[in-house]
Amino acid sequence: MRSVWVLGDQLHRGIGALTAARPETDRIVIVESAGKIASRPWHVQRAHFIVASMRRFALSLREDGFDVDYRLAPTLREGLLGHLAETNPDALVVTEPNSRTARNLAVEIGAEQVRSNQFLCHPDDFASFAEGRRSMKMEDFYRWQRRRLGYLMDGDEPVGGQWNFDADNRKPPPRDGSSPWPAPPVAEADDLDRDVLASLPSTCTGAAPSGTWATSRDGALERLTHFIERVLPMFGPHEDAMLSGNWHLAHSMLSPYLNNGLLLPDEVLGAAHGAFREGRVPLNSAEGFIRQVLGWREWVWNLYWAYGPNYASSNALGAVRPLPPAFTGRASTRMRCVGAALHDVDQRGWAHHIQRLMVLGNLALTSGIDPQQFTRWMWDSFVDAAEWVMVPNVIGMSLHADGGRMATKPYASGGAYIDRMSDYCASCPYDRTKRTGDDACPFTTLYWDFLLRHSEQFVRNPRIAAQVRSAERLADAAAVRARAADVGRLLDAGRL
Ligand code: SF4
Repeated sequence: MRSVWVLGDQLHRGIGALTAARPETDRIVIVESAGKIASRPWHVQRAHFIVASMRRFALSLREDGFDVDYRLAPTLREGLLGHLAETNPDALVVTEPNSRTARNLAVEIGAEQVRSNQFLCHPDDFASFAEGRRSMKMEDFYRWQRRRLGYLMDGDEPVGGQWNFDADNRKPPPRDGSSPWPAPPVAEADDLDRDVLASLPSTCTGAAPSGTWATSRDGALERLTHFIERVLPMFGPHEDAMLSGNWHLAHSMLSPYLNNGLLLPDEVLGAAHGAFREGRVPLNSAEGFIRQVLGWREWVWNLYWAYGPNYASSNALGAVRPLPPAFTGRASTRMRCVGAALHDVDQRGWAHHIQRLMVLGNLALTSGIDPQQFTRWMWDSFVDAAEWVMVPNVIGMSLHADGGRMATKPYASGGAYIDRMSDYCASCPYDRTKRTGDDACPFTTLYWDFLLRHSEQFVRNPRIAAQVRSAERLADAAAVRARAADVGRLLDAGRL
């Protein structure tokens, strides 16, 4: 008998080593590591989602006739060594793990690694994209992906004559107060959920699960169908909008299932592409969503491997501020935008990409929060997090801590951007138009202070040089710096 080791983010019969596994010839080993679960203040919904999905997947494999050794062990390593000692398999095989740590463990214990199909662009394929390029851009990668895989293509040209519909997809929220996006399905808790929750350590944080996240293949497929049929047709226009009264808008919320394997990218993309071809989804919505999955997600995955293990410790802007107490529930905040995003994270272990990038990440960037602390907080707090997701997205995209390898400009903005894309500012005690004074919007103050602090680094960057020169011409630069110092102290003290 061979043993097939299945990791907690590879929960699909169609992934790598499991594809060819048969009950007559293969035993399955899945390890639930108590040490890993207790090692961090994971959001309870993240911990529940991962563990419940693993246990349900083990049950489904047993229903398919497999002998499944589902092990509770102090560590992943100990669980695997225990399995090997007890079963003495002819061979141990595993789909290429999605983290360096697990790949190193696979090498250490002599597991044969089977090529992963959990992403449509394997790092070997990415090498052929990157070869000979002096600079790598997501947009080039995305077009390369579309051409070679045939999504939204008309021969060698994009359907509709355009690669990008961002101009149609960056509208502010509806100003008439309407909120037309249907809420996602809710899962009923069962005994397995209750057992998982009872087994989680007290180190977990956040609100208990309320059924937002499915933990089975059937549940993930139900979410996919809901998104394609009811939400995707209105996905595009308000993709970057934020609303206090609606946490989900038209977001797919499929990333947790893509990232733990309950869904595969080709089935998600195929469903979206099919709905477009059948005329049920407009092109701008189909393109915006396909760009996220085929472009951004695969781009981030490949940068994680391409940039190497030292990338995670980058800190090009020398940011050293500790994580503010408002992020860990030790304080609240009066900033409406930040409070809303942190509330969503607490309630569901999730906030959408603009809240992540332009509210939480923007605050971390402009106030100079330590990139490694912020990365770790994001990884602990989000249900769809993984090292490969968070390291490039936070270090490169959000905090510019890699000196601009991933993003050609820092994603810093003042209150004006947040005001345009949300309804937060109207009910906020801060004034988004002010950069000095006790009621100045912290984002506006920190934005100008950020440009002043890092003017030497950015003044030759054509994408942000004009803003840097504007900052250098500010008559009240000294007052901005003084207010920014106050904002930093209030942030640190949990009184902002
Ligand atoms: Fe956020 Fe500033 Fe707007 Fe308040 S005024 S919601 S702090 S952007």
